[in-house]
Amino acid sequence: TTDNQNTQVTDGFHLVIDALKANDLDTIFGLVGIPITDLCRLAQAEGIRFIGFRHEQHAGNAAAIAGFMTQKPGICMTVSAPGFLNGLTALANATVNCFPMILISGSSEREIVDLQQGDYEEMDQLNAAKPYCKAAYRINHIEDIGIGFARAIRAAVSGRPGGVYLDLPAQLLSQTMPVEEAKKSIFKVIDPVPRQIPAADAVERALNVLKGAKRPLILLGKGAAYAQADEDIRALIEKSGIPYLPMSMAKGLLPDIHPQSASAARAFVLAEADAVMLIGARLNWLLAHGKGKTWGKDPKKFIQIDIQANEVDSNVQIDAPLIGDIGSCVGELLKGIAAVPKPSAEWIKAIDDKKVKNIAKMAETLAKEASPMNFHGALRVIREVIRLNPDVNLVNEGANTLDYCRAIVNMYKPRKRFDSGTWGIMGIGMGYAIGASVTSGLPTIAVEGDSAFGFSGMELETICRYNLPITTVVFNNNGVYRGTDVNPTGGADVAPTVFVKNARYDKMIEAFGGVGYYVTTPAELEAALTKALAEGKPALINAVIDETAGTESGRLTNLNPSTANK
Ligand code: ADP
Repeated sequence: TTDNQNTQVTDGFHLVIDALKANDLDTIFGLVGIPITDLCRLAQAEGIRFIGFRHEQHAGNAAAIAGFMTQKPGICMTVSAPGFLNGLTALANATVNCFPMILISGSSEREIVDLQQGDYEEMDQLNAAKPYCKAAYRINHIEDIGIGFARAIRAAVSGRPGGVYLDLPAQLLSQTMPVEEAKKSIFKVIDPVPRQIPAADAVERALNVLKGAKRPLILLGKGAAYAQADEDIRALIEKSGIPYLPMSMAKGLLPDIHPQSASAARAFVLAEADAVMLIGARLNWLLAHGKGKTWGKDPKKFIQIDIQANEVDSNVQIDAPLIGDIGSCVGELLKGIAAVPKPSAEWIKAIDDKKVKNIAKMAETLAKEASPMNFHGALRVIREVIRLNPDVNLVNEGANTLDYCRAIVNMYKPRKRFDSGTWGIMGIGMGYAIGASVTSGLPTIAVEGDSAFGFSGMELETICRYNLPITTVVFNNNGVYRGTDVNPTGGADVAPTVFVKNARYDKMIEAFGGVGYYVTTPAELEAALTKALAEGKPALINAVIDETAGTESGRLTNLNPSTANK
């Protein structure tokens, strides 16, 4: 606010900050540069937490995971053109995963951009963003900052959550208006995540499907974790007695050791269930589109709880769609669940038999002392450390590292596991770890394949700069999938999947003042991880894994197109 010939005026910089603060958006993940540097400085001066990254994609991923954890849009702030495009990758990923976030980017002079006269970092960002997010807006006038933020916030969190792009032209920030008028233009959005109550006949239809089922199954997706209806979801599962399967980011919504968890009999229950209730999970590729061998021979009845009406019938016919927010839908089902007969004893016993067998088999594999260390030996340690520290956030990406960790490491609390998600991507690691750690204030372990880690490794500097309690464990097997491929021509270039052998990722974090560990056995890994957690300082454990361990594309081998002359 400046005193200008007795008329108090404020400017766009201040009003952007005021709009964020009015809506309790207290953290910005970003990267400074023209034209947002002063905006970021001012944000910090005004009490907003600013976490500065080395690359915008990771700032965006941090914002996205903060959105998933809090039901408030995570805020990412970037410069124009390339900074914006880097952030756009994260915005698209957030939208695909149904995480609420707002990407705010500064942009160049509209008049010059629109006539393509060659401005500094010229780009039509608004239109570039549109296909990759839920909504995109530009604020051209200072009077509209309050309304512009309200639209962005509502679009991000109401209905199916997703990513929103908000374009702030450089000239907007220096526009001025009288303080009194400006104050009135900024407001807190009322009821940004409105409850959406399901229709009574839809609830009854869903209950009738359950009543008619012999072998029911509940599938919990990350929408169920996002909804924060933990107690009601648990009550529905326990009162109904129905076995359930968590999708990877729904792990821990109920503790993975819950007697009704069918995770250890996953293939069996998907094939054999006769009625499946999806709660915040889509029948996409992660669930084999609801058809084919995975889903067995006999036809199934599906109930689908979702906030997005046109998700229903996306892949197969849904017998009982239940449209509304998960809290309200589960609440309504609970009222009628006592009248639903318990699943047959035969069904429960068949699942339990399968579980006992599979759990014993896994225990045997985990107990084997392989030398050099393999994925199972290393994950036996991670599993035990998480059991002893159930509040720790777990970030996980890679191919084999992801598949094995998801299956082996039990989660005990909701919204603690953050992974490759709907796209099955690499590159979320350090961004999610920073976002999760900053948002929760709790220690975070990132279990990373060496390839996956490479996409965001420079953010180790960010972790050290903010002294975050993040321990990154790199499963180092010298390459993508594994490190043993050779160049068939005998030429000097290594094979496309191979990295520098015996790379010392632990030395990277030492460059920034963090603690590096180099381990080659499960016992050493356990000692290092326990020490790192106790110290609560930035750490990286380079865990050497047998370079012959690991299969091509992990469990996604079938997605590789095959050549005719292999
Ligand atoms: P997963 O990958 O774990 O199977 P998905 O991301 O495919 O989960 O599915 C999440 C679903 O949850 C989306 O279809 C989304 O519309 C839905 N969803 C998200 N939040 C809510 C909510 N609060 N109430 C109802 N449905 C929700």
